Amino acid sequence: MTNDKPVVLMPEDIQRIMGKDAQRNNILAARMVAEVVKTTLGPKGMDKMLVSPTGEIVVTNDGVTILQEMQIEHPAAKMMVEVAKTQESEVGDGTTTAVMIAGKLLENAEKLLDNKIHPTIITKGYQLAAEKAQKILQEISMQITPENEDILRQIAMTSMTGKGAEGSKEKFSKIIVKAVKQIEEGGRYDLDNIKIEKAQGEGVHDTELISGIVLDKEKVSQDMPKKLGDARIALIDFPLELKNPEIDTKISISSPEQLQNFLNQEEEAIKEMVEKIQKSMANVVFCQKGIDDFAQFLLAKAGIYACRRVAKSDLEKIAKATGGKIVSNLTELNPEVLGKAEVVEEVKQGEDYMTYVRGCQNPKALSILIHGGTEHVMDEIERALMDGLGDVVSSLKTGLIVPGGGAIEIEIARRLRQFGQTLTGREQLAVEEFASALEFIPVTLAENAGMDPIDVLTELKSRHDSGDKNAGLNLFTNKIENVLEARILEPYKIKSQAINSASEVATMILRIDDVIASEESGNQNQPGSSNITGLE
Ligand code: ADP
Ligand code: MG
Repeated sequence: MTNDKPVVLMPEDIQRIMGKDAQRNNILAARMVAEVVKTTLGPKGMDKMLVSPTGEIVVTNDGVTILQEMQIEHPAAKMMVEVAKTQESEVGDGTTTAVMIAGKLLENAEKLLDNKIHPTIITKGYQLAAEKAQKILQEISMQITPENEDILRQIAMTSMTGKGAEGSKEKFSKIIVKAVKQIEEGGRYDLDNIKIEKAQGEGVHDTELISGIVLDKEKVSQDMPKKLGDARIALIDFPLELKNPEIDTKISISSPEQLQNFLNQEEEAIKEMVEKIQKSMANVVFCQKGIDDFAQFLLAKAGIYACRRVAKSDLEKIAKATGGKIVSNLTELNPEVLGKAEVVEEVKQGEDYMTYVRGCQNPKALSILIHGGTEHVMDEIERALMDGLGDVVSSLKTGLIVPGGGAIEIEIARRLRQFGQTLTGREQLAVEEFASALEFIPVTLAENAGMDPIDVLTELKSRHDSGDKNAGLNLFTNKIENVLEARILEPYKIKSQAINSASEVATMILRIDDVIASEESGNQNQPGSSNITGLE
């Protein structure tokens, strides 16, 4: 007996595109992502202004920030954003580079696909090339030690060149290297020990390194002490008030006595809270939630310094810095869980008051206080500082650095081509394309600086062919020079991570020949449209 019913594999609302269409569509979307960040690459790259649906504005040059703010939805494009995110978390810099290499690898793969080369051959060739590129990279990178402070500062400066921070990069590079050296613990560097805080007013150049924690909070009451020595800090993540606004309580009161009773009860409860804090010997309270007026009054009377609505992440930093523990209940509060610091004080910064916690139990705790005229400026400075911090830390972690300005990319490409010659199959073509994808970095650096990319590439290649492996594009002079001497230096890890994630995502996208998307997955976009939303 035969069954005439059609075979239903998937519900109707599932979108499916297959084969070449799927592949081309994914490649196109991924390339579009690379295209977006391309113009920001390098010291002469431009900035982007991103406007959120609520009208908030971000002006930035930072690859990962741009892509995150864009709310990209295409699945393959999202994979590219992941590349930037990985780069950011692993190194903290080089996000544009990583995304651009990935985009170019895919663009070049398309050429091979057009020439009827099978995707598996391309991915095989790309893998061979990526492995070889890592080996070459290791061979030509240079060693540094923590004592090479000048070089570390140059690395920080290279990462800030062309960013909002450029004007003060000398000073910032000193702050960065000093901060990183201070947080060193047995050869390890935990950037969580550095808190970045912003104070509006004064110039960017007044940005400073402060040992201890700086908190963008004033004390809740004028009657509290301005400065406290021998600080014993209670860190609490619940409100010091009674009414929980989330719970509507109804009370029925029929006489004035009842009302008075009720108010008395409330006062009693608050008094009890403050007494518990006093009993724990705390003289400072950092509270994640609100503090009731009456509680403020009582705390001030007890000579306690208190801040309210301290961000959870800040509480965590303070806990780490002062050796305290965040408590969720007053019964947990005792002398053991209090954080210790030599001084807690309120300091006026421009128009605002801030709280400084100095002489923390953990001397590794540092703050960088960014000054600047507007939020947007300070945010971009923060991103540049984070790039610099990430670069210096990763240079120290691996002890390896490379010449920038495209020098390293050209040298790897040159040696990859030689390696390609030793291969017999069609993978050779893929290795070639891999090499040319790397050359896209100096090409774009030149293009963004208004130079002729073909001239630049030709000269760079011939200089490298004649053995000048540190020849790169110096965008201070707009000349091809020995960039090592020009001190344009970058951490090895930027490049190794970028090559690694870029080739991974490119091969992953190339292997896909079927996209099955269900509507429920929140995919308002059809898989067939290469629309990158958010930036119409
Ligand atoms: P990314 O997000 O990839 O870090 P950037 O916009 O920070 O992108 O640009 C980094 C690139 O700029 C690197 O290739 C680096 O070598 C190059 N670069 C930095 N300073 C200079 C300079 N003075 N001359 C030429 N290239 C530079
Ligand atoms: Mg950078």
